[in-house]
Amino acid sequence: MKTSIATVSISGDLREKLAAIAAAGFDGVEIFEQDFLAFDGPPAEVGAMVRDHGLEITLFQPFRDFEGLPEPQRGHAFERARRKFDLMNQLGTDLMLICSSVAPAALGGIDRAANDFRELGEIAKSFGVRVGYEALAWGRHVSDHRDAWEVVRRADHPNVGLILDSFHTLARKIDVETIRAIPGDRIFIVQLADAPLIDMDLLYWSRHFRNMPGEGDLDVVGFMRAVAATGYDGPLSLEIFNDQFRGGSPRSIAVDGRRSLVNLMDQVRRAEPALAIPVPAMPDRIEVTGVEFVEFAADEQEAGELGALLGTMGFSLAARHRYRDVTVWRQGTERNINLVINTSHEGFGHSSYLVHGTNAYAIGLRVADAPATVARARALGAETFAESRGPGELSIPAIRGVGGGVIYFVDDALAKVWDVEFDPVADAPTPGAGLISIDHVAQTMNYEEMLTWLLFYTAIFRTRKSPMVDVVDPAGLVRSQVVESEGIREGKSGLRLTLNGAENRKTLAGHFIAESFGSSVQHLAFATADVFDSAERMAELGLRPLEITANYYDDLEARFGLEPEMTARLRRHNVLYDRDAHGEFFQIYSQNFGEGFFFEIVERRGGYRGYGGPNAPFRIAAQKRAIRPKGIPRA
Ligand code: MG
Ligand code: MG
Repeated sequence: MKTSIATVSISGDLREKLAAIAAAGFDGVEIFEQDFLAFDGPPAEVGAMVRDHGLEITLFQPFRDFEGLPEPQRGHAFERARRKFDLMNQLGTDLMLICSSVAPAALGGIDRAANDFRELGEIAKSFGVRVGYEALAWGRHVSDHRDAWEVVRRADHPNVGLILDSFHTLARKIDVETIRAIPGDRIFIVQLADAPLIDMDLLYWSRHFRNMPGEGDLDVVGFMRAVAATGYDGPLSLEIFNDQFRGGSPRSIAVDGRRSLVNLMDQVRRAEPALAIPVPAMPDRIEVTGVEFVEFAADEQEAGELGALLGTMGFSLAARHRYRDVTVWRQGTERNINLVINTSHEGFGHSSYLVHGTNAYAIGLRVADAPATVARARALGAETFAESRGPGELSIPAIRGVGGGVIYFVDDALAKVWDVEFDPVADAPTPGAGLISIDHVAQTMNYEEMLTWLLFYTAIFRTRKSPMVDVVDPAGLVRSQVVESEGIREGKSGLRLTLNGAENRKTLAGHFIAESFGSSVQHLAFATADVFDSAERMAELGLRPLEITANYYDDLEARFGLEPEMTARLRRHNVLYDRDAHGEFFQIYSQNFGEGFFFEIVERRGGYRGYGGPNAPFRIAAQKRAIRPKGIPRA
């Protein structure tokens, strides 16, 4: 599999782009003409720079408004092409993209266009280069890859071929199966892009909202399956116009790009077992069956405060690590929720504490095969993580995740860690508050990073993403998107994550990131089978829940037609309520711990699928009231 990316896809000047693209492991680049024009140096220098990075130039683009012109414009277009061919010779590339014309003067007609291309093919041949024809979704006469192919077929010249671009085909909802009839050796390059489903002008959508395969909603896998069936074995080239990427980190965008292509081709290989798809072998996407533990890094004083807060939710100290300053907190004798507090003065936990303050820096995910999980993550470019272990300590494989945190993988063999490394605490455990599992983990990040982590989670794990929704904070919008295990809605156990993207630091989410210097886990939600029972038990243990306004409950009663007794009960315990087509949802929030970290207790009744999204603005307003004295600006 030869991978390539258009320089237009990432930010920086040409040097920075090439360095990032090479570091991410691409084989080639498309040189976008504007990047070349902005570069202060002759074409031969650009070519040498590309090759010095170990890259090849897979394509020079774009050449616009070529075909179907009357004279004298036609003659000018041919002259323009000759000059570009000469430039390509100096750059050291042999393929140019010609996109279908949008010129008002262009005349229609497949044969007219084919004749232009046949003539151009002869000129290209004399320069030792080839031209590829791409149907723009908004082309004047040609806007469909089937018509572009017909032009190429009738041009019947070895130096003239077809260029396919997933965006142009999928945006116009053209049946991808029609690609299977095109001979693979007539396709000169394949460009790939995804996009979120937004109903807008095609040109604007394409120029601003494209994203990496797997980050959007288009069926890029279906498109690529059809391409693979043609026998095409040339470069797969990302061509992503995205405003965010153009302002993002070149390195991380390049890494995402490469990850998206490997993940895409892995899916294509699994869907088309009869085809020889050249993608490195790796385990299939990994099924996560739950959150085995969450680990906090803290100093001794804050560990005491955190332990006290956990105590009000029914947790008690259950075990101590044999060699390290690490404790485990559980409900009763159950091991379904394992909260680890690490106060060591060495190791990564301590470093994390020094950077972020007390924070939930590591998550342990339960999987069937921990080494296989790391193998897939590594094949997708994830950074592995390991700490030096003492004698008698298990080596639990891990990778780096959001906000510099760590994701551990625990399988059956590694779950014995609780017995091997920890001594139970002798005291009889407290009865707990009926909390039975970790329902979800909420991670907060800068909005620009959201696509990166969505791709990370959905490429490595057998998960799916929900559409992005806006959550209104009085100080701005927070974007929220759910990643959850496939099958969790059908009642299987699995992973639920809510990712929140903050656009400014005045929102509660933005405040949390700013004050914790980029820590990611902002809240942990525990599941209960009976929210009112848990509420009563937690009240006895001294939990002060986040206080919800009377106005909220008045509105709630009217909105859902609740019985007054029910509303009173919700209000008495500060329980938020939601309902969907499948069931009901109950939520209790803790007060903030530190700079905006908190806990949530939820009950899902009857298969409710959401996360209480409609309640988020009320929850945020209540939390901001609680921390405003410490300096959150009034919105
Ligand atoms: Mg294109
Ligand atoms: Mg939540």
